[in-house]
Amino acid sequence: MSSRQIRNGKGHRVYRRKQAALKRRTADENLPCGWRSHYGCGQPIDTTLPYTDKMSFTADHPVAITNGGDLVRQELHPFHRKCNRDKGDAATVEIWEAT
Ligand SMILES: [Zn+2]
Repeated sequence: MSSRQIRNGKGHRVYRRKQAALKRRTADENLPCGWRSHYGCGQPIDTTLPYTDKMSFTADHPVAITNGGDLVRQELHPFHRKCNRDKGDAATVEIWEAT
């Protein structure tokens, strides 16, 4: 399934709702970035930053869509936009920016 099909389908609406809920939780509970690597991170995320900021909030799913991950059924994790990009899952970034 291409990212275009996901964006236009029913899955996208569910995904957007889950993203919004996670963003609230990230702000309320001060959840750190889910990106853990030898580069670091695990840092807090400022959810008030505009989505154009590389340190702004994005929601990520542990298994990339491009690797056969399920967009809707997976638990999402908060990520910095920059970290999500470093992780190399372009599909998530693309969906978020389509708003
Ligand atoms: Zn991060």
